[in-house]
Amino acid sequence: MMKKLCAKQGCNKLVEIGHTYCEEHQREYEEKQKARHREYKQNRTDIKEQKFYVSDDWQIMKKYIMQKYHGLCLYSLVIENRIVFADVVHHIVPIKQNWDLRLNENNLITLSNSAHEYLHGLLRENPDAYWEIMDKIKKVK
Ligand SMILES: [Zn+2]
Ligand SMILES: [Zn+2]
Repeated sequence: MMKKLCAKQGCNKLVEIGHTYCEEHQREYEEKQKARHREYKQNRTDIKEQKFYVSDDWQIMKKYIMQKYHGLCLYSLVIENRIVFADVVHHIVPIKQNWDLRLNENNLITLSNSAHEYLHGLLRENPDAYWEIMDKIKKVK
């Protein structure tokens, strides 16, 4: 059987004709390909989301939601019983999780910057607590 050197620089293992790498470096090659593919997919998702956030559809929906809740932060209002002005419109189910809900009125609430930051942190670290709060807000909104 004819053999040749593994294509990985510095590797002296022999591989059969028709193969490029030895077993170890074949695995390494496939891992790299997979990582590259993941990165590519992530970039495409990011671009899609960026485009969405500057779209007319989103600008119009944002304005509408702000008016609907009188420009008030729903977290402050419902959970803390305080009147605080809202800065942002937040997706209850993040668009990364469900792209189809990006313009769904029922998935959108108004929040102050600090409540928004807090809730995104909570969603990462304690999803159960996040969803509990969202359920309370959804009940009254
Ligand atoms: Zn090798
Ligand atoms: Zn948000």
